[in-house]
Amino acid sequence: MTTVSNEPTFRESVDLMVDRAICVMGLDEGTSSAIKACNSVLQVQFPVKIRGKIEVFTGWRATHSTHRLPSKGGIRFAPYASQDEVEALASLMTYKCAIVDVPFGGSKGALLIDPSQYERDEMEMITRRFAHELIRKGVLSPSTNVPAPDVGTGQREMAWIADTYKHLHPEDINYIACVTGKPLHHGGIHGRVEATGRGVQYAIREFFRHPEDVKSANMEGSLYGKTCVIQGLGNVGYHASKFLSEEDGVIITAVIERDGALINDEGINIEDLYHHIIEHGSITNFPGATLEENGAAVLEKECDILIPAALESQITLENADRIQAKLIIEAANGPITYGADEILNKKGIIIIPDAYANAGGVTVSYFEWIRNISHIRMGRMQKRHDETHGAHIAAMLEELTGTTVSDSLKKSVAHGADELDLVRSGLDDTMRTAYQQIRETLIENEKITDLRTASYVTSITKIARSYLDIGIY
Ligand code: GLU
Repeated sequence: MTTVSNEPTFRESVDLMVDRAICVMGLDEGTSSAIKACNSVLQVQFPVKIRGKIEVFTGWRATHSTHRLPSKGGIRFAPYASQDEVEALASLMTYKCAIVDVPFGGSKGALLIDPSQYERDEMEMITRRFAHELIRKGVLSPSTNVPAPDVGTGQREMAWIADTYKHLHPEDINYIACVTGKPLHHGGIHGRVEATGRGVQYAIREFFRHPEDVKSANMEGSLYGKTCVIQGLGNVGYHASKFLSEEDGVIITAVIERDGALINDEGINIEDLYHHIIEHGSITNFPGATLEENGAAVLEKECDILIPAALESQITLENADRIQAKLIIEAANGPITYGADEILNKKGIIIIPDAYANAGGVTVSYFEWIRNISHIRMGRMQKRHDETHGAHIAAMLEELTGTTVSDSLKKSVAHGADELDLVRSGLDDTMRTAYQQIRETLIENEKITDLRTASYVTSITKIARSYLDIGIY
């Protein structure tokens, strides 16, 4: 999954993209090597007794950077996980956090496992045992290294990890901040589940606020009515395609999944499809769309926007030349290999890169971590105060003008923001600001011709500054 013959590995691919940016920046070799190096990688192997038999599991936690603490990044459970992949993903976390001004270093973990082969209780035992290893070896705590969900993990696994940490460190008042992406009733935050998909939506919206950028992708007008092919209807793909189609009028003309692709040029109803998959475990027999068994070929379908939201190395030297999308937004980490990226750039296809595009997840993880260490739900102190203030303004307007403010207007003026409102507002602002910084970098430096290089230059400039300010010892 991570290596495609005749192409660099995933980690090498990320490094090559970073090198391209470093070259444009003219950054000195010492600082660039310090930024690129993966600080540490822990590999653990531990036994668990499953159905009377001992099985040995292998897992990793790579800490790419600690220039900010804690280091942050998900844990994935996958049968193809490898150290190379974990290191690549950890480095992406470093760049990602810097792009969206989330004050964390970069880290990533993985467990080599096929979760579909185990019962719920077995998964709990394995997850708790893995967490135990990471905690005991010093790579999991609220102040040093904070995991989150990734491919194959979700709220359930995060709750088990938090509980394991709590039992080992009951004296740590911030124990609940040792992991993010937790269920709401275990210290989670509203809007974390949808966050990465929501971030993808906010990123595309921001792109479409700049007519010159839209023009550079050979499109014009607004997002409304644009066609979109999405690969992967997991947490990220589902939310991104649902929000884009339901709220922005984007037409989802194809959905690519493991067992093929569904095509309907009139548009696929994402909510219906999502429920169909939950009910039947597959996309087959979904009414209202045609099944194409060769799912990968559908990446090449003509469309305005292509959203790879599955795994790495999906657009490679093999298929890059046949891609027809005008804009690609990388909702997954590393879906385009280095070689494919060069081909797509030459073809004039605009790519909104992963390190920015899918940063919504870690941004809301940051909000969750803040909520946890401050021990208070966001909006708890202000909501009613803001509502009273809003009601007074409406009353004052009525008194001054001698007219009545409509009930709906009164309601919206007197609405105090709750946690979800605040999380969405913070995420929207983060995605807008980061895109504006990236495009400024692109405009200011004539050597930069693509958004990926501009993103890395933006990010590395911030990281380098922090290295230089503090010094290296
Ligand atoms: N796994 C997600 C990512 O790749 C989220 C990481 C986090 O929230 O720490 O960005």
